[in-house]
Amino acid sequence: MDKPRESATTIAGRLTTWLMLCVVALSVLMVAAAYVPARLKLLGLYSIVLGLAAGWVIGQIARQCRMHYRRVLFPAALLMTIIALSGQIGESYRVWRNSKRDRLAEQSQAALIFDNPAFGETPPPTDTFNDYLTLRFSPLTESSWSLLQSAANWPRLLLGLEVLLGGLAGAFVAARLVSAPFCVTCESWHEPQRSVVLGSTAGNRCLQLLTNKEQPAIPEGGRLHLEYTSCRCSSAIPVIRCTREQPGQATSVVVTVQPNRETLAQLTTLLDGNDNAQ
Ligand SMILES: [Zn+2]
Repeated sequence: MDKPRESATTIAGRLTTWLMLCVVALSVLMVAAAYVPARLKLLGLYSIVLGLAAGWVIGQIARQCRMHYRRVLFPAALLMTIIALSGQIGESYRVWRNSKRDRLAEQSQAALIFDNPAFGETPPPTDTFNDYLTLRFSPLTESSWSLLQSAANWPRLLLGLEVLLGGLAGAFVAARLVSAPFCVTCESWHEPQRSVVLGSTAGNRCLQLLTNKEQPAIPEGGRLHLEYTSCRCSSAIPVIRCTREQPGQATSVVVTVQPNRETLAQLTTLLDGNDNAQ
């Protein structure tokens, strides 16, 4: 069966809408994030939390826009999160610098009013971006771990690392939100339909049916989980994910398969004859 193809206009339209909505949403998120009090902006953690939030926003918008082009989505989400985090840091710096200048202005005002020699000498402003970074990473100098102490000498490197980790966290969350298969015909994402748990005997027969490769048998006491997902087409064949679970071993996905109609009919007969199917 030939799959319908999407026109270049559709693809370009989705991509543009997605990008524009992401720019608006991320700008709002990052400006808000810049005004969070400095003591809550925990080193390392804050960028990752923000990156995760940005990735969630990017992924949700992608779902609404039917942006299912995963090869574009991951690098674009990475880039957008990195730009958003950098913007947030720039804005945080601006907020910090302005409050510092306001304080300085108040002090010189007080010096003028009271003619107090103690206020007379205003120190030169120390509000460059480097000053901000040095202050931000200064808690590291008090660390008992010498590696962290010396890392504090490289604030720009640490900042880059923070932003990169946040960007990766965001891209992974966004990609995860659109990881389900997408159907071009009904323009919907696959959604969970049913799940079946089988004992070892029925499970082994199912595995044999669904995979062409020889699989190690599921021992007695083990189980096979089948999870069906499908799009909204009435004639859709579900995608089935098989997970094996056996005593003393980690649960593992054996195969994710979209069987042909014949195999699906055989599977249904097999499951109907099995009382444990839920
Ligand atoms: Zn469909």
